[in-house]
Amino acid sequence: ASLQTATAALRGGAYDFLVKPFDDLIMISAVVNRASEKLTLESRNRLLMNQLEMYARELERLNASLKDMADLDWLTGLPNRRRLHREVDSEISRATRHERQFSLVLLDVDRFKSYNDRHGHLAGDEVLRGVAKVLQSAGRTEHLCARYGGEEFVVLLPETDRASARICAERLRACVAEHPFENRGTQPGGAVTVSLGIACFPEDGSDGDALLSKADAALYRAKERGRNRIEG
Ligand code: GH3
Ligand code: MG
Ligand code: MG
Repeated sequence: ASLQTATAALRGGAYDFLVKPFDDLIMISAVVNRASEKLTLESRNRLLMNQLEMYARELERLNASLKDMADLDWLTGLPNRRRLHREVDSEISRATRHERQFSLVLLDVDRFKSYNDRHGHLAGDEVLRGVAKVLQSAGRTEHLCARYGGEEFVVLLPETDRASARICAERLRACVAEHPFENRGTQPGGAVTVSLGIACFPEDGSDGDALLSKADAALYRAKERGRNRIEG
């Protein structure tokens, strides 16, 4: 019954101590009850902590997939316009820092309204998915291919000057025109085609909006000059 024994026991992990002789047996059961309550609480705490960790991990996973979804186009799975703008901004910073060039190609499916009108919107959706696949497989891995909106796509070509961008754009144009899309025969010229407009950094603009508006103007010229062609 020394203080030394008691402190040694507490240090060793004892919950409480009673001093001998035990006059009151109720005291013993009270202490035992408190100790057992403490154990129960501790194990419940551990369970809650485990659950909390599990929820935190699940939340993290959901957040990551939400973040992905916010950046992706639901129809084609390509990066969307939001993500494209971010990528263009970072490409501008990179190209400025290293005094490099890069190019943007804006593509628009030709006479797509007529395809939708003849074959329905769902068939039209299928064509858009197909165009997305063709653009991805025709380009190089370092190219970023995005759905800009409706039937418009943008391909970002890092480290690419105008002459090389025209070669890339021509490959994209030809791959789309040659792809065996369903019902392609009903489109003008018997093929699903795209018109393309090119803009190059830095000569066509110093920010994303300026570049895209240059590419859009070039695309407009391509439409005017007969479609299924490249301008810019
Ligand atoms: P142009 O050669 O001048 O580009 O002619 P166009 O018919 O392609 O151009 P217009 O702007 O008149 O029509 C675009 C069409 O694209 C109309 C719209 O219904 C269709 N479109 C836009 N987004 C989608 C989509 O997500 N799915 C489908 N199926 N059609 C879409
Ligand atoms: Mg359009
Ligand atoms: Mg169109």
